[in-house]
Amino acid sequence: MAAPQLSVVIPVYNEEAGLPALFARLYPALDALQVPYEVIFVNDGSRDHSAALLREQFLARPDVTRVVLFNANYGQHLAIIAGFERMRGARVVTLDADLQNPPEEIGRLLTAMDAGYDYVGGVRRTREDVWWRRAASRAMNGVRERITRIRMTDQGCMLRAYSRDIADAVAASREVSTYIPALAYTFANNPTEIDVGHEERAAGESKYSLYKLIRLNFDLVTGFSLLPLQLFSMFGMLVSALSLAAYIVVIAYRLIVSEWQGFATLQVLWDRDILAFFLIGMLLFGLGLIGEYVGRIYQQVRERPRYTVRAMLETPEAATRDDAAHDRAVITR
Ligand code: UDP
Ligand code: MG
Repeated sequence: MAAPQLSVVIPVYNEEAGLPALFARLYPALDALQVPYEVIFVNDGSRDHSAALLREQFLARPDVTRVVLFNANYGQHLAIIAGFERMRGARVVTLDADLQNPPEEIGRLLTAMDAGYDYVGGVRRTREDVWWRRAASRAMNGVRERITRIRMTDQGCMLRAYSRDIADAVAASREVSTYIPALAYTFANNPTEIDVGHEERAAGESKYSLYKLIRLNFDLVTGFSLLPLQLFSMFGMLVSALSLAAYIVVIAYRLIVSEWQGFATLQVLWDRDILAFFLIGMLLFGLGLIGEYVGRIYQQVRERPRYTVRAMLETPEAATRDDAAHDRAVITR
């Protein structure tokens, strides 16, 4: 087998319903490119039969398939990092396992790389997701654009191509909670974007609940900007300055001009309880925000392994060995 020039990394979490359709479209699309390639599936601790399907696929195409099996669920972005750490190609393409990213577009990403770009981001022409996901994405794209240095049109699109240098730098960053498209962007010399298709999920349902989406967006914001913390101290300073000014005005009013009628408007606008609740709310939010950073620092300084690999399917012997181990585990459970 020729050394692969292209590595395709696909994170898989509970995708048994869609994997057969993915295999049926992915491999012909890659074969058509006429470049030596490898597909690296990273099974992110699926609790369904995804691992068994991946093993079958590995045995069907062992020349171009490698499978990393995590022992538990560590999240999409760590799964991609595990792929980057093991890739052999000079370029890597990431895509989702649910066929929302058409594998037929990979060739167009590579053409853009041929033109000299080292980072090619996909921009979904249309977005086949529920309306609140689209609205939330638009809002978070805007926030990220404003508070970080990362410039991209569609941060949620995982159909992207990176040069080996970028993937190596991503793998070498020992970050526990990160967002690959953004992290990779910080290492790019010459990034570009192209429009790509987007389809409805072929089967199964989204693996991101609202809660997981919020966590992911905190990773994105805390990982690439300190501005939220800085805004917070700015807000604190502003509130203290305004309070001081209000205090001086009120005292001056009591001492000198108590008969001035226009001042009654301030009493109308000034509801201490509501303002106090507002400030308490802001304080709690600020505390939580600091917690988001501190928690990530804590995870980082513990320096535990970011993930553990149960098995790596690269040779047919490894696949059968893993099969036996897995079946034993099922029997004894
Ligand atoms: N995924 C993963 N680990 C997780 C969640 C998701 O590996 O904890 C994978 C999932 O199998 C899919 C990709 O990440 O290949 C994107 O997930 P999904 O399609 O559910 O996200 P959405 O398209 O709804 O944003
Ligand atoms: Mg999806």
